[in-house]
Amino acid sequence: MMTEPLSAPDDPLSSKCGFATLLDPHGGRPASAGLGALKSARRIVVKVGSSLVTNEGRGIDADAVGNWCRQLATLAAQGRELVMVSSGAIAEGMKRLGWRTRPSELHELQAAAAVGQMGLAQMYETQLSRFGMGSAQVLLTHADLADRERYLNARSTLLTLLRLQVIPVINENDTVVNDEIKFGDNDTLGALVANLVEADALVILTDQRGLYSADPRQHPDARFIAQGRAGDSALEQMAGGAGSSIGRGGMLTKILAAKRAAGSGASTVIAWGREPDVLLRLAAGEAIGTALLAGTPKLAARKQWMADHLQLRGSVRVDAGAVLKLRDEGKSLLPIGVIEVEGEFHRGDVIAVLSDAGTEIARGLANYSSGEARLIARKPSSQIVGLLGYANEQELIHRDNMVLA
Ligand code: GLU
Repeated sequence: MMTEPLSAPDDPLSSKCGFATLLDPHGGRPASAGLGALKSARRIVVKVGSSLVTNEGRGIDADAVGNWCRQLATLAAQGRELVMVSSGAIAEGMKRLGWRTRPSELHELQAAAAVGQMGLAQMYETQLSRFGMGSAQVLLTHADLADRERYLNARSTLLTLLRLQVIPVINENDTVVNDEIKFGDNDTLGALVANLVEADALVILTDQRGLYSADPRQHPDARFIAQGRAGDSALEQMAGGAGSSIGRGGMLTKILAAKRAAGSGASTVIAWGREPDVLLRLAAGEAIGTALLAGTPKLAARKQWMADHLQLRGSVRVDAGAVLKLRDEGKSLLPIGVIEVEGEFHRGDVIAVLSDAGTEIARGLANYSSGEARLIARKPSSQIVGLLGYANEQELIHRDNMVLA
């Protein structure tokens, strides 16, 4: 891990970080850390926390949201693909309901989120359209992304939105779950979304300027962490050590989010959300905040993810033409190339693609169940609707969801 000496050890610290390794961004040091992790990132997930979005609970900060939306639009014009993961529903809901203190009962928090989400979505739509960008509201849960079929549905929807150059604005579906209310303030969700869309980078914008090696109030020799390796256990120990409290959206959830994002090859940057033009400058290669770099390249990480997360449920045997298209032309697998379907699988399961001789060519997420695949095998994709009554996708396995053996 790369560190810098701390020049302002007595800076005020956020109450949110029980273990105050995140230092106040106003601390007097120029934001000079990090190593340009975002410069070559094409697909970027940006996560913003509640206190930033709602200006410490004072209501949605239109200027701040407008500022990020302006930057997102500029990055989109550069050909980058952006996904926003935004908290703030509970904070905004509490304001709308006239609640001054955060209730302890989860169902009340969930009700506040339902109220506040209206304003949150409205604000992003207004601000993104000011800068010529379309927006879409997506409410997800951790369980959605653990379920193979919902995972694939969410992935297909988000990738379609990106192709349409619409910016998805994602929050947890707080009505039905409370994972992020209890712990994460959407840090974990941000990482899961980065995995889902195979982002190159996750940017966690927060009200702190990055990570410190220790609580600077107690350790004057605490160092700013300019760069580390996502998944480095020393970071976790540091954040989970004595005196820490795993607060909602504190330091540990960010470190764990970076580890999770690295599972699909995405590096994470943790930076102060009010740093002027923070996203544009990061994307231009400027080193701001703390960069936690992924150790494994995206493709290898994706292969590993498939191996770790999803059991092989079946296979399809394909003809020589399909082998050629997959191997040499980088194409998707269409039903017409399928000779035989083996095993029982659902939409979203990982299946193997075998040559006629039985050699494994690739693995990928099936867009159709084994039953459906048997009906559409050997048929042109234009017949899928006629045969099934609906069509998920034209491909049996989309190229984006496939890794070659
Ligand atoms: N999803 C929640 C929100 O947007 C998480 C933040 C919180 O727990 O306050 O409000």
